[in-house]
Amino acid sequence: MLYIVATPIGNLGDISLRALEVLKSVDLVACEDTRHTQILLSHYGIRVPTTSFFQHNRFTKAEFLLRLLKEGKSVALVSDAGTPGILDPGYNLIKEAIAQNIPLTVIPGPAAFVCALVLSGKPAHKFIFEGFLPNRAQARRNRLAKLAALDYTLVFYESCHRIHATLQDIHTVFGEKEVVCLRELTKKFEEVYRGSPQDILSSLQKQKPRGEFVVVI
Ligand code: SAM
Repeated sequence: MLYIVATPIGNLGDISLRALEVLKSVDLVACEDTRHTQILLSHYGIRVPTTSFFQHNRFTKAEFLLRLLKEGKSVALVSDAGTPGILDPGYNLIKEAIAQNIPLTVIPGPAAFVCALVLSGKPAHKFIFEGFLPNRAQARRNRLAKLAALDYTLVFYESCHRIHATLQDIHTVFGEKEVVCLRELTKKFEEVYRGSPQDILSSLQKQKPRGEFVVVI
């Protein structure tokens, strides 16, 4: 069985009892960064072999993991944060496991975009999760302009390096629209900024932005 196991997005307490049981019982845990996942496993006294499964070894490592699964071994797939398969190499493994008729199941838990959506207070019954916007400025603005025409709450992931540029582009495309910018969700320095893109930019410019962001429009 391949277990897709959600893990915390910042607060080690945010893990289910079932996730802990599965992590204790499997033959191998496939993680993006083994050192990162080891912090979680050690916190809960779980001793289990781990292997790295990340962007650059995703094809060869997926083959190896699928072979183990076919031999009857159990594997837990985790990501650095949240639910595996959402913008991480887990997606490739899940797709292949389905193609090869390997039994799989999910152990649900946190996903940053769900936490951000509900905390934003924006309508959550109809939303688009866009993941990361394009890197190039013109492509980013074009994509935002397409999304602006839709009658949905929009949710984006963003890094601290690009949050300024993205908020500038949101201002260009959406003007004074109220935006919610959520930083370091569930962590000690969790912050929620509400206001126009310009309001948020001036709050953020008081210090160099750090950490991880979700933007909701
Ligand atoms: N699998 C993850 C999930 O379930 O949400 C997402 C992985 S994606 C590669 C990483 C992005 O998620 C970050 O760049 C950030 O935008 C968002 N993210 C993850 N943890 C976060 C947190 N604690 N606070 C705010 N955003 C977070």
